[in-house]
Amino acid sequence: MSSFRVELGPNSHDVHIGAGLLGQLGVLAAASGLKPAAAALITDSNVGRLYAAAAMASLDSAGFRPVAITIPAGEASKSLATLAEIYDRLTEAQLDRSCAIFALGGGVVGDLAGLAAATYLRGLPLVQIPTTVVGQVDSALGGKTAINHHAAKNLIGAFYQPRLIVADIATLTTLPEREFREGLAEVIKYGAIMDAPFLDWLEVSVSAIHARDPAVFEIVVERSLRHKGFVVANDEREGGLRKILNFGHTLGHALEASAGYGAYLHGEAVAIGMAAAARLSHQYAALPLASRARLEALIASAGLPLELPAGWRDDIFLKALRLDKKRAGDAFEFLLLVRLGHAFTRRLTLYEIFAALQ
Ligand code: NAD
Repeated sequence: MSSFRVELGPNSHDVHIGAGLLGQLGVLAAASGLKPAAAALITDSNVGRLYAAAAMASLDSAGFRPVAITIPAGEASKSLATLAEIYDRLTEAQLDRSCAIFALGGGVVGDLAGLAAATYLRGLPLVQIPTTVVGQVDSALGGKTAINHHAAKNLIGAFYQPRLIVADIATLTTLPEREFREGLAEVIKYGAIMDAPFLDWLEVSVSAIHARDPAVFEIVVERSLRHKGFVVANDEREGGLRKILNFGHTLGHALEASAGYGAYLHGEAVAIGMAAAARLSHQYAALPLASRARLEALIASAGLPLELPAGWRDDIFLKALRLDKKRAGDAFEFLLLVRLGHAFTRRLTLYEIFAALQ
């Protein structure tokens, strides 16, 4: 097991990563200072079937008395209606402020259960138990919780830090292949923006990563979460440094929106966005051609796309880019790489960005 602490002042918390940690969930939760008491374990229909019993048994044996709340799997559950159902179930379970919420699942469960924990009784302790690559390398850490609104994704939410994160690598063995690969986009991102030696290591470890080797994947998750933890510890509310985590995301979000949500998984769109950002970095930040090629090769070896889809619609894409919250007039503060492991922002106009994509 690898462990470290995310330093967030009064919101500091531990992170534990390892294979088989579900069986130790109760002990780890008690050791983090949570009082064994009534609790809610929120999960989704896929993850619940596979892992809820083990998590409940572990909590039970440490003295917690959890009720399970299972939501339908999928992004559609990040809704006001599902959140309202969760509030109903928490009321029935008569939880008080000392009772914790355990979020067992991917980013959907983490974001939704996180918002329930942030708001029910003005805040219950939250434990994140991510079971997807996206969850384990990214969404469980950082305190962003949200549901969607038909006007936009993640429109309603709160910053609310977990008390503890327990990432059981063994749960990744059952993750469908496409969901597994999409999470690797965020892993490559950490290397690209802040850790060139990590990129070297990823290049030689790619087959062990695809084989979901637990020892290798423990390193992937630990190194990724340490980087995210460092960024979040220095900029919890995304006032400055945290924006670095958006590398590849401006174009990724526009691509997701213009292709129609669901056509691309988020990580696939981010992979194309990172490849395009590498092209722009070569053009506007003198990123050496060889570095750009290495990044593209790593993205491809992770099984992720590099290119825009055949027959993509320029007009719809431009419209989506124009809708981006980060746009200022006709320009973006765009994240580029000056070399691998070093990102900075540079002002680029919509048309400069667009031309590089042609
Ligand atoms: P997800 O939670 O929908 O999980 C993907 C699918 O895998 C689901 O069908 C789920 O039931 C299934 N699944 C999960 N774990 C499994 C396992 N171990 N074995 C078998 N099946 C499993 O998707 P995700 O990619 O984890 O998360 C996406 C969500 O995360 C989006 O809503 C996004 O907005 C959010 N997100 C939040 C943050 C943040 O900082 N809060 C960061 C990134 C993404």
